[in-house]
Amino acid sequence: MSKIAVIGSNMVDLITYIERMPAQGETLEAPRFAMGCGGKGANQAAAAALLGADVLMLSKVGDDAFADTTLANFQRLGIDTRFVERVPGVSSGVAPIFVQENSHNSILIVKGANAHLSPADIDRAEAQLRDCDLIVLQLEVELATVYHAIAFAHRHAIPVLLNPAPALAGLSREHLAQLDFLIPNESELALISGQPVTCAEEAAQAARQLVALGVRHVIVTLGEQGALYVGNEGEWQVPGVKVQARDTTGAGDAFIGCFARHWSQDGNIRQAMQQAVAYSACSVTGLGTQSSYPDASTFARFLD
Ligand code: ATP
Repeated sequence: MSKIAVIGSNMVDLITYIERMPAQGETLEAPRFAMGCGGKGANQAAAAALLGADVLMLSKVGDDAFADTTLANFQRLGIDTRFVERVPGVSSGVAPIFVQENSHNSILIVKGANAHLSPADIDRAEAQLRDCDLIVLQLEVELATVYHAIAFAHRHAIPVLLNPAPALAGLSREHLAQLDFLIPNESELALISGQPVTCAEEAAQAARQLVALGVRHVIVTLGEQGALYVGNEGEWQVPGVKVQARDTTGAGDAFIGCFARHWSQDGNIRQAMQQAVAYSACSVTGLGTQSSYPDASTFARFLD
């Protein structure tokens, strides 16, 4: 079985459903509250694990009950948590989310312990990381840690995938050139390339520029239109799968986790993209983030 390392964030989503936002100084009763496990790193690890990958997680949790929730969730999914460490005196990453009746969202992100994942944590896991078929990264932890992980993967010839989310301009060209896979959505690609990306053709143009910089494979997710490949193997688009979308939160992470699971198994990019497009489409038919990710047997039924 292929082995994937996810180096990144975890968060606990604290979702309060409200009629309206309270004004300053006002106290309001809210009708409903829900908690869910999230964070881009954790979501991607969850999707890959649900599909049967052997997943090693490098992440930090805090000194609170949310840490227990996150660790229990990883363990339930069969994710290797030996490098998910508690940081004393610090809160876990949390995302207080307010969902209004008109379905508008207001979200706060408290990075908490995620900001403590350091280059030294990567070096400490060297033996286990060298055993992995793919390292998966996002941008919800310190940039210095992400760059260190890319350089580490490059030095040890371990394939490395960066999902440049949340969007950030000015990523180092030196590190971009060391990537095997860069998988942005359209707005992330626009920021990285400095070019407008409003359609598949503009996405292809911006992606070509990044391939010219040295990225081997750029895959752009295009929402309901599927995903686009530009890289050493040519150019193609995998069309989206038509579904009744109910909640697209976490679709990008579902795509990455599924892609990582399939590519690390057999190295076939096109087939891994086809699986990832279908898996993320399936995820948007359910509510929530990780709660909308199907396991392997539910996904097999969706494909039938
Ligand atoms: P998010 O931020 O919501 O997690 P994203 O902006 O990172 O998503 P998108 O490109 O919107 O990423 O979506 C990722 C993948 O999810 C797409 O490539 C597509 O396969 C699938 N997807 C998203 N929205 C839909 C939809 N409405 N119908 C079908 N598939 C969808």
